[in-house]
Amino acid sequence: MGDYQIQCAACGQLYPDTGSNECPDRHAALQRTVYTAQRLQCADLPGMMRFYDWLPIHCKPAVTAGPVTYRSVAFAREMGFSNLYITFNGFWPEKGASVKTCSFKELEAVPTMQRASEKKSGILVVASAGNTGRAFAQIAAEMNTPVVVVIPKKSLPLIWTTIQTDQVLLITVDGDYSDAISRSIAIAALPHLTAEGGAKNCARRDGMGTVMLDAATTIGRIPDYYVQAVGSGTGAIAAWEAAQRLVRDGRYGSHLPHMILSQNLPFVPMANAWKAGRREIDPMIDMADATQAISQVYADVLTNRNPPYGITGGLFDCLTETGGEIFTVSNDEARQAQRLFEECEGIDLDPAAGVTVASLITAARDGNIDPCRDVMINITGGGYKRVQEAYDLVPVNAALATDRTTGMDQIAGFVNDWVKEHA
Ligand SMILES: [Zn+2]
Repeated sequence: MGDYQIQCAACGQLYPDTGSNECPDRHAALQRTVYTAQRLQCADLPGMMRFYDWLPIHCKPAVTAGPVTYRSVAFAREMGFSNLYITFNGFWPEKGASVKTCSFKELEAVPTMQRASEKKSGILVVASAGNTGRAFAQIAAEMNTPVVVVIPKKSLPLIWTTIQTDQVLLITVDGDYSDAISRSIAIAALPHLTAEGGAKNCARRDGMGTVMLDAATTIGRIPDYYVQAVGSGTGAIAAWEAAQRLVRDGRYGSHLPHMILSQNLPFVPMANAWKAGRREIDPMIDMADATQAISQVYADVLTNRNPPYGITGGLFDCLTETGGEIFTVSNDEARQAQRLFEECEGIDLDPAAGVTVASLITAARDGNIDPCRDVMINITGGGYKRVQEAYDLVPVNAALATDRTTGMDQIAGFVNDWVKEHA
């Protein structure tokens, strides 16, 4: 039950989980879980806890968030696909989808918070542009576990929960996502706190990997194509890792899905590097005028400047092994795709999912996807209209607003006092 070891993607050594996200020999590589249960046994539990066997945790938190896969009729007909499967991560109770903060980031938050608490790693510090912070705040409330969330000031309206909680310490920075990340690194170095680790955290990736598990167990086989817009690419890496486990399971086929990924123009560093055949992102070529480009992107959750692309076990390896591709999508194409999807399927999408749908439309039009194969599309967020009908959303207030003049000693004093009350 829930037994696993960790394996370094570079040196291959297996070792017990201490809660760290680094190889004991410090290789720059993703660390993966290797589960004792080679055959996936789905538990009779709600949401993602069905896939508890392949999550790096020993207790099952009582949460309902989870992916829901169904076969599309209207949108599939519009697109001319025979077998189009939608894995929906958001709020849509009529379909059994109960991710209340409407993004697949909740799937990361659940096992990440559970693993940190089991490993006594300390209170997690999360930097976010919005969706991740909202997801961790919600799960902190549901699991009654404290979390520190650091966001750009402009993202404040995006941080809400469906239940009142005192478990979230929300800190704003006067800057962009990159400034929130730098501030969060300094805060995570304070006593009793720890950085959540981003893509390097196997719990985050295996949480998102449940999207592929849900699709494969619903379809009965690993899909031939996996479609998703990427900012860091962590969701795609997670889906690829989950597909590898399904291949070892043996009941879902021996093929890996082609990864059909996309980024939102004009900020498309991974698409540029991949097109040039490079494992490394060259900041001068692939993300020139980054600040200006980022400010023009519609789906701003896709604007990660430091994605796990070249790292061993990262997105370059994922695309290479799966015969994948990264497309680029304009803001107009994303908006049109959102409208078309909502008309056909009856649910609203977040901008990043709009980019995903737009990339499917272009890939199909240009003959890059065989419409007769099993196509799975990861809808990473949606149902924002629906959740407002079901819940009174509770805004999370910023406990501390910082700017460039705020000293670290001042922040440390404030955070330490809060930690004393919550640790
Ligand atoms: Zn290693």
